[in-house]
Amino acid sequence: MAKTNDDIEDQNTEDETQWIQQKTTEEIIQAQKSDEILGKLYQMKTESKDKPKWGDIAIQNPIIKRYWSQWDRIVFENGVLNRQWLDTITNVTCNQLLVPSCWTKDILQLLHNNPTSGHLGIHKTVARVRRRFYWVDFKTDILKWIQQCTMCTSRKQPPRRAKSKMKQYHVGAPMERVALDIIGPFPLSKKGNKYALIVSDYFTRWAEGYPMPDMETKTIIDNFVKCVDLVFPDKSTQTRDDNLSRHYLKNYVPDSVSIKLEPLLTALKVMGWWSDSIAVWKKYLVNMSVPIKRTGMNSYHGLSWPTGHQYTSQQNFHPVN
Ligand SMILES: [Zn+2]
Repeated sequence: MAKTNDDIEDQNTEDETQWIQQKTTEEIIQAQKSDEILGKLYQMKTESKDKPKWGDIAIQNPIIKRYWSQWDRIVFENGVLNRQWLDTITNVTCNQLLVPSCWTKDILQLLHNNPTSGHLGIHKTVARVRRRFYWVDFKTDILKWIQQCTMCTSRKQPPRRAKSKMKQYHVGAPMERVALDIIGPFPLSKKGNKYALIVSDYFTRWAEGYPMPDMETKTIIDNFVKCVDLVFPDKSTQTRDDNLSRHYLKNYVPDSVSIKLEPLLTALKVMGWWSDSIAVWKKYLVNMSVPIKRTGMNSYHGLSWPTGHQYTSQQNFHPVN
C-alpha cells in the first residue's frame, strides 16, 4: 500500500522553533494579554495562584471555563502562558504555548501547508501542533483546516468502481445465455408498473419486455420465468419448460431466493396482467421503435421484438408464434 503523508514519521520541530524564536517574549505576552480569552485567563492567573471558585467563573465564556478546568496545568514560563502536557510516547512533560486566536491560522499554515510540512494528514498535524502549541478546540480547527485545504482535497482520489473486463460469449443454442436489463422508472401504469425487464437471448438476439412494479429480485425472477414460459409455450414442452426454468434459477439466481415454479407458471397463464397498462407502455416503448406483438395467449403477454440483427443460421427458431 502506498504511504500517505500520515504514515510518515515526522520529528522535525525546526519550523515551530524558528517561528517562536522570531517573536520576542514581550511580543508573545502582549498578544496573549490582548486576546479576548487568553487576556482574561492571564489576568486570573496573575491575580491568584489558587483556582477561582466555580461561582466566580460560571458566568464566563465557555472557552475560559475550559482553560479554568485545566487550571493547574496552565503555568507561566518567562511571563508567557503555557500548558503542561505529558507526551505519553516519550514520557516527557513539555510546555505548550497557549496560542492567541490571531496566530492559530499562522501555525496551521506553518505546520500543514509549508513546503517542509508537506500537507500531513490530520493525526500527524495534530501531533505536530501539540508538541509546541495548545488552544481550546485545536483538533477541530485542524480537521476543518485540512478539509478546506485545496491541495489536500484535490489530491484525494474519488473511490474507484470495480469493472469487469469486456469479453466475448460463445453460445450455441437459444436460451443458453440471456441478458437481463431493467429500464425505467416510467410514469406509474394503472396496474402499478414502473419499470420494464428486458430479457435478450444471446443466440437469437431476440428480446422480451416485461412491466414490473419494482426492481426487487423476486419480481425480476418472476418475470424472467414468464419469459422462459413464453419461449416454450407448447403444453407438450411443459416439462422441458420447467426444467429449463429450474436450470436458470439454479445457475443464475442467488440461492437465498426461492419461488414455487408450478403455481407461478399456472398463474401466469390465467392472468391478463398486461392489458390495462398497454397504452402507457406503448407510449414509451413505441418511442424506442419497439413493435408490440400479440402472443398466442389471447392477451398482451409482453413485448416481443427482434433486435434488428439479421437471423442467419437461426432462421428456424421462432420464440413467439
Ligand atoms: Zn493540505
